[in-house]
Amino acid sequence: MRIPRQGSAVDRRGGALDAARDQLAEAVRTLGYEPGLHDMLARSRRELVVSVPLRRDGGEVEVLTGYRVQHNFSRGPAKGGTRFHPDVTLDEVRALAMWMTWKCALLDVPYGGAKGGVTIDPRNYSPAELERVTRRYTSEISPIIGPDRDIPAPDVGTDERTMAWMMDTFSVAAGHTVPGVVTGKPLSIGGSLGRAGSTSRGVALLALAALERIGVRPGTCTAAVQGYGKVGAGVVDELCAAGVRVRAVADQYGAVHHDRGLDPVALAAHVRDTGSVVGCPGTEPLAGQDLLTLDVDLLVPAAIEGVLHAGNASAVRARVVVEGANGPTTTEADRLLEDRGVLVVPDILANAGGVVVSYFEWVQANQAYRWSVEQVQQRLAERMVQAWREVSADAERRGTTLRRSATLLAVRRVAEAHTARGLYP
Ligand code: GLU
Repeated sequence: MRIPRQGSAVDRRGGALDAARDQLAEAVRTLGYEPGLHDMLARSRRELVVSVPLRRDGGEVEVLTGYRVQHNFSRGPAKGGTRFHPDVTLDEVRALAMWMTWKCALLDVPYGGAKGGVTIDPRNYSPAELERVTRRYTSEISPIIGPDRDIPAPDVGTDERTMAWMMDTFSVAAGHTVPGVVTGKPLSIGGSLGRAGSTSRGVALLALAALERIGVRPGTCTAAVQGYGKVGAGVVDELCAAGVRVRAVADQYGAVHHDRGLDPVALAAHVRDTGSVVGCPGTEPLAGQDLLTLDVDLLVPAAIEGVLHAGNASAVRARVVVEGANGPTTTEADRLLEDRGVLVVPDILANAGGVVVSYFEWVQANQAYRWSVEQVQQRLAERMVQAWREVSADAERRGTTLRRSATLLAVRRVAEAHTARGLYP
């Protein structure tokens, strides 16, 4: 099936903040909060825009733009990822920071929300250039980050190597090693066992819980996963291990499918060798946008914002959508999916596994004590299941969507913390 309109980069970026603000406004209306409290929750507490001058390998200088937005810290230090992507804007970072606040509150992790990013396409830069960008960006935002202030982590376009450079840059300036300043670090410098696969693990866990709720057993379930990066690749592996037939996957270069189910091992090997899922032996090519409307039970958008929009949401045939990415569904698409009875497990719940294990990593750094992978995975599962139960019970009681209930529960926790602390002066 053809998709009438694909959201452009500009639509996506503007749309993320619109979607985040719409979700908050709806929760505030239900909770009956005053306009002043709504305004507090709708705005970022702090926004920093920085120039990041980079000396390219050829010697010329290019000036990039970086951001760090701290949306809220009523419940604890700010927390959130660092994105390196060509579409990064202040509005996008604002939306992502707000979602981090709700995500941390919903999972009862003692943090507020933040996000950062640099407008850059990392594919066009050498590792040495990316190291210089990361170090200069870290240095520029260092006045507002720190283990008690704001703790960055990986996001789209960044990874554990980026976090090692950030930790080192911050530590060199401090004059001593500060392992708690970032999470998602390599194990050798205080990373947590189980952090790397934690977002995917949480997404798969909640996908299976949602399927169970509508009476679909993993062995009879088919799925499509959009995105084969840090989140999507792990989701494919976890779902296949549970017996789900993953019929299609897409990455930024294209998509592949196989009606009887893809072989996760062959897929991972092909991506390791070629850098893309495209051309994986034993699969057929598929237009990337067609993956979203494939005839499957479960759809996992695990790439970027705004991919389900007014132009394609009515064509989605999955019965369950589990948001591995942040903000993959626009407000209009959300309504269309709701009207058609599609069960949407929202991002702030579905993909919270990453920040939960980030929190465990920070606790371990503060304690200077390492937990076993079993402890990490068990505690992650407990928190995800607890949040799933709270959100689904609330949604059932109110007769509403999981997204409305998740946002409402999170907003209420943040508002309670804000009210308990009172307004200074
Ligand atoms: N970037 C991830 C997210 O959007 C992880 C954030 C973190 O661990 O702080 O949830």
